[in-house]
Amino acid sequence: MTVRENAKAELTRASGMKVDYDCVKCGHRWAIDVTETEFRSSLDPSRVYACPKCAQRVGTGPVRCMRCGDGFVLEFPYWHVHCDRAGGNCPACGARYASLCIC
Ligand SMILES: [Zn+2]
Ligand SMILES: [Zn+2]
Ligand SMILES: [Zn+2]
Repeated sequence: MTVRENAKAELTRASGMKVDYDCVKCGHRWAIDVTETEFRSSLDPSRVYACPKCAQRVGTGPVRCMRCGDGFVLEFPYWHVHCDRAGGNCPACGARYASLCIC
C-alpha cells in the first residue's frame, strides 16, 4: 500500500463514526458523524452541524451568567461524548463561566 492509499484508508476509517447528540438548547436527539479524533477529544471548531429542530450549532449552547444574569452562547467541546465540560467569559460583565463535568 502506498503512502497515499494508506492516508486514504485512514480517512475512510476515521470518518464513519456516528454518535447520538443531544442538543444543548432544546434536548433534541439525533445522530452526528464524528471522526475518531473528535470522538477522543473535542469537536473540530470548523464543524457546522446545527440542530435540525432549533438550529443551535453543535458543540455550543446557551448559558446564563451567574453574576449579571446575561445570556450568551458557550462552546461545549465535549458535549458529543456526553461531557458538559465548558468554560468561557461572560461578554457582558467578563465573569468567568465554568461548567465542570463529573466524568
Ligand atoms: Zn435544538
Ligand atoms: Zn466529562
Ligand atoms: Zn455577566
